[in-house]
Amino acid sequence: MGVSDEDGHLIVSAYYLREGESVSKYLDVIHELVHVKQFRDGKALFDDNYEYHNRPTELEAYKLAVEEARRVGMSDRELFEYLKVDWMSEDEVRKLAKNLGIKVTPKRAQERVR
Ligand SMILES: [Zn+2]
Repeated sequence: MGVSDEDGHLIVSAYYLREGESVSKYLDVIHELVHVKQFRDGKALFDDNYEYHNRPTELEAYKLAVEEARRVGMSDRELFEYLKVDWMSEDEVRKLAKNLGIKVTPKRAQERVR
């Protein structure tokens, strides 16, 4: 799911709509609607001066989605899982989680559990 930086439209893959987890799709819609608003406000959505996990437009979008996730009872652990996408490294996901105030299991502790 994403927003076009050319016309501000929401773009969703049919596969994700069919197969994605409901809670992920719900949180993604919240996240992407923040980008739609940012686009309408004239903000640059994909400012390459920032890495994804530090980009102000992303943090604003995630912040709202995280607030809603907490409201519906998601734990930090579940939120951390939600943040994981195949195009971000584990370290980047950890940095993003930290920027959003999501508590994550320390890497070493996690490795011991496995
Ligand atoms: Zn985004």
